[in-house]
Amino acid sequence: MTRLDEILAKARPDPDDLAALLGADARAEQCRLQAAAYAVKVRTVGAVVYFRGLFELSNLCSKDCLYCGIRRSNRKVDRYLIPIDEILAGARWAYEQGYGSVVLQSGERSDPVFVDLITELVTKIRALSQGQLAITLSVGEQSEATYRTWFQAGAERYLLRIETSDPALYRRLHPADHSWERRRDCLRLLHGIGYQLGSGAMIGLPGQSVEQLAQDVLFFEQEKVVMIGMGPFIPHADTPMRESIRNFAWKRHAQLALALRMIAVTRLYLPDVNIAAATALQTLAPDGREQGLMAGANVIMPNLTDPKYRSAYQLYDGKPCLDESATQCRGCLQARIASLGETIGFGQRGDSRRFVERKKAAATNGATSAGQPPADENTGEGPAMRRVSGYNTKLF
Ligand code: SAM
Ligand code: SF4
Repeated sequence: MTRLDEILAKARPDPDDLAALLGADARAEQCRLQAAAYAVKVRTVGAVVYFRGLFELSNLCSKDCLYCGIRRSNRKVDRYLIPIDEILAGARWAYEQGYGSVVLQSGERSDPVFVDLITELVTKIRALSQGQLAITLSVGEQSEATYRTWFQAGAERYLLRIETSDPALYRRLHPADHSWERRRDCLRLLHGIGYQLGSGAMIGLPGQSVEQLAQDVLFFEQEKVVMIGMGPFIPHADTPMRESIRNFAWKRHAQLALALRMIAVTRLYLPDVNIAAATALQTLAPDGREQGLMAGANVIMPNLTDPKYRSAYQLYDGKPCLDESATQCRGCLQARIASLGETIGFGQRGDSRRFVERKKAAATNGATSAGQPPADENTGEGPAMRRVSGYNTKLF
């Protein structure tokens, strides 16, 4: 019996198994890993794909993450902010089409004008959909007061990728005034307020090891993350990480395979969370998102941003569907998903099952909210979690 057989025979992999699974890069092993994860997905959350209509609200950003194409230092970007009425018209369209949820994403700003804008959008989207559209925000690190204001206005879900659970790697990817600890603390605030908490990591970063990726999966569990949005790192020519482009062509395939293994391993380890098949997968292969679904993902975020803004929201080179309208995007995705034998959860909010179960348990135990802060308070450098062992392989 191989190590892979032994691990896949368990009801759930142990923490120490995760790095070995992530390193299982022989083609036959990868297929078996993905098939096992797909079976777990069908058993726990079903062969149903939930759509979240994505609005790339603005590319104005106060941060300077070294990998991101819309970082504030990139002077080549034409900056925009979509007028409120255009977003509301898009949200109404999404509601009428049977989407259960919309995501408002943008560069990070914390000035009062921006905070008020998001509050107004959340309030109005709730009103136009009679509270039927679940609203996810993905607008970065904010104060507790701001997160509370938006929660009270009706935002129920928040997506804030930790990017990597390794503080030292995080520091190499960000300027000195960006803080891993602050980002981690934001995740804890969001959870404590009661948001359905989303996070994720970039996969295949320069110098990243399978051990670090395994730690990312443990981090999601420890921080009570119930929605996972992770995707491959893809270099952008106008960023300080442009050097990575030189080797990227030959490692595209490996990058996609690793991202799919990460999805599969996360599904095996956290069977009842929602996992998005990131758009970045489609940059690596035309059917990358469908491959993500077959590896265990159950969420897709069709881009509903008006095509006139899309080319100015290029986080990485080769962003797909730059000129496709929301209607074309919907049709194209529906056909692709049907070809996999999966259905689309139109008219359903598609809440994370892990969140719903936790909320039920909290209600049974007499707690007032599903959002209880994680038990152990970390201090110092890294997450206080069990370290994975057995591998320490730098991938790229
Ligand atoms: N500004 C908010 C934030 O950073 O949380 C939300 C928007 S930000 C553009 C969304 C995500 O894009 C980031 O969390 C990051 O993981 C991803 N991203 C940025 N540059 C990327 C790149 N070059 N390759 C892959 N993902 C990238
Ligand atoms: Fe801004 Fe988000 Fe890009 Fe960082 S990843 S530069 S916060 S948009």
